[in-house]
Amino acid sequence: MNAMSALTWMEEELASLEEASLKRSLRESYTVPGSPGRMFRGTGSRSLLNLSANDYLGLSQHPAIIEAMREALLEEGLGAGASRLVTGNRKAYAKLEEAIAEWQNCEAALVFGSGYMANAGVIRSVVGRGDVVFSDQLNHASIVDGILMSRAELVRYRHLDMEHLEAMLHKHRDKRRKLIVTDAVFSMDGDQARLHELKLLKHEYGAMLMVDEAHSGGIYGRHGEGLCHELGVKDEVDIHIGTFSKAFGAYGAYVCGSRTLIDYLVNKARPLIYSTAMPPALLAGIAQALALVQQDHWRRERLGSAVRFFRSSLKKSGFLIPTGDSAIVPIIIGDNETALRFSAALEENGIAAVAIRPPSVPEGTARIRFSLSAAHTDKELRDAAARIRQVGLQFGVLGR
Ligand SMILES: *Cc1c(COP(=O)(O)O)cnc(C)c1O
Repeated sequence: MNAMSALTWMEEELASLEEASLKRSLRESYTVPGSPGRMFRGTGSRSLLNLSANDYLGLSQHPAIIEAMREALLEEGLGAGASRLVTGNRKAYAKLEEAIAEWQNCEAALVFGSGYMANAGVIRSVVGRGDVVFSDQLNHASIVDGILMSRAELVRYRHLDMEHLEAMLHKHRDKRRKLIVTDAVFSMDGDQARLHELKLLKHEYGAMLMVDEAHSGGIYGRHGEGLCHELGVKDEVDIHIGTFSKAFGAYGAYVCGSRTLIDYLVNKARPLIYSTAMPPALLAGIAQALALVQQDHWRRERLGSAVRFFRSSLKKSGFLIPTGDSAIVPIIIGDNETALRFSAALEENGIAAVAIRPPSVPEGTARIRFSLSAAHTDKELRDAAARIRQVGLQFGVLGR
């Protein structure tokens, strides 16, 4: 008797997602050796321009990184075998963390397994019941999950609305600990946090300030330190988070701050305590990527000119895109089904640009989110912009 399984409700829920054009499924993708800006969807087919990856500096296939990983793999094997607090703390950690602290000009740094783990682990460690977290409405899901796990009160302020934030800070001024947390560059819109104003509010209300540089680390700042450095507010940020999964072309994350913060996290951050240390070969690859991020100014410059070129091409074509200089360029389609069809039409035109739908973005703002890379050439981007315009005309979304 298995007509009614205990999981029938799941089938129903999946069917309703499908109905709303909200069902997600995993599709395979393949790298194009030597071309980090491109990808295949099926073997044998022609390659697509990948406008949906976060490999901003085009480092994901860099030979020096691969060689560093290969050597470490041969020397140390694959798994670290235990968490860092047990026996997994290979020597590559200390070296990497010193290099990060020096790069960021902060007292200390701590590496995490991923940006998701860093956000979730750090927030849960620094606030708890009786505390309050002020979070921009469009912050990344890993930040929201960290807040929910912490059991602190979650106060979402309207996106970039500093008056709303201030009113909320005032209302909660007597709470024990207060944390303001924001993406530096927002992942789905590509706009920037108002870091100068956040700095003032943090001081006025005695709050901690945490900034997630997932989409700005490696890209902004003289040596890719991030937006906080570029804007000169780095010393006001108590908890600075960045990832190795985007501009570094790798995987993992870092937290920077005071020695006290890092010592505290070693004692409290559950993803560090209860999860196995990263594979040593990955640490070696990240260390090499960090050196390239610091040295290769041309990658930031190339990304910058790709961004300017692509943004101005879309604008000239009549698309309404948010102003800014980030490598994330959304065009808002609105309904989910059209966004999916738009994405499929782009794919037929040689462009991989997936539709982003709720709950990743607010209801009614399904979009195509383009992200650029230093690996994209002007010719590729010129072709892509012309094809995107064609598809835009076909769908009647120009000028909207
Ligand atoms: C991608 C992203 C993360 C998660 O980082 P991973 O290393 O991919 O887990 C965290 N915060 C923001 C803003 C992101 O865009």
